[in-house]
Amino acid sequence: MSVIRFGAVIRLGAIAAALLAMTYAAVHAPATAQDAEKAPAQEKAKQQPKEQAKRPQIQTTKVDGTDNVYVFRNGNHQAMFVVTKDGVIATDPVAYGRPTGGQDYINEIRKITQAPIRYLIYSHHHFDHIAGGKAFKDAGATIIAHRNAQKRLAAIKDPHTPLPDRVVANQETIRLGGITLELRYLGPNHSDSTLVMRLPREKIIFVVDTIPVGSVPGRGMIDFYPVETEAFIKRVLTLDWDRLIPGHPGAPNDRLGTKKDAEEQLKLLQAASAEGKRLGQAGRCWEPGEKEFKLEGYESWPGYASGLPFIARRYCGLWGRGT
Ligand SMILES: [Zn+2]
Repeated sequence: MSVIRFGAVIRLGAIAAALLAMTYAAVHAPATAQDAEKAPAQEKAKQQPKEQAKRPQIQTTKVDGTDNVYVFRNGNHQAMFVVTKDGVIATDPVAYGRPTGGQDYINEIRKITQAPIRYLIYSHHHFDHIAGGKAFKDAGATIIAHRNAQKRLAAIKDPHTPLPDRVVANQETIRLGGITLELRYLGPNHSDSTLVMRLPREKIIFVVDTIPVGSVPGRGMIDFYPVETEAFIKRVLTLDWDRLIPGHPGAPNDRLGTKKDAEEQLKLLQAASAEGKRLGQAGRCWEPGEKEFKLEGYESWPGYASGLPFIARRYCGLWGRGT
């Protein structure tokens, strides 16, 4: 028996509504993940700890302390899925550039259960996370996404990324086989279409790309909303959760995140914003500000060297151009 309750909308107020209206266009993934996959071999060896270099391409892991919450990982991308007696709730196919990735994900689910795959929920509109949904649609899943994701996907028509069947505005709750999964839109952040997914009983959230666990953001800054993201992370911190499943394995050791990681990512972004403000308001953006841009204290974080130019560009844009 499944019940999906649409229409139980919690209004987030005027601020969220105003933020919702803002749009940017681009497609990307965070530097920490894609760099690791696309960097030359020498760079890659430097960036990847030994355990990551050794791990298989595809892996499914049950989340400790839960009966039915899993992480499916393909390369450096990962997604959460939940198994119930009445069916499976899957998220993000993570199959960009991986023609069999959607089916590979289903095959992993089938090692655990033969229950129908009822839902496929897109975390946000970026193809590196949501390409590959056709296999799920063919298996009978209903695809759900934020309404801004639907608009973007409809405009771009990526052949590998099916449009959602249903859209979420501000908040929806899915109930299936005794499981409750909340989908919340908390304003623009890494994208303008991110759904924060929360399992209230398990106190687990799945948030993709906006809160990298233990690493520095990078390419993902291309359509990032710098001011709004700080408010977004603060809103995420007010929710009741203990563990965060990120869209890319956490550093070190592919770990999950905690509220401390969210707080640290917020601090990193605040430091980046302060640096951008200093350079931008001194008239140094784009040049020489982008070259002078530093994030003191973060030099040892994974993704620092590759991510810094993207962070510098985004914050030089904000404080030097007002963009
Ligand atoms: Zn993304």
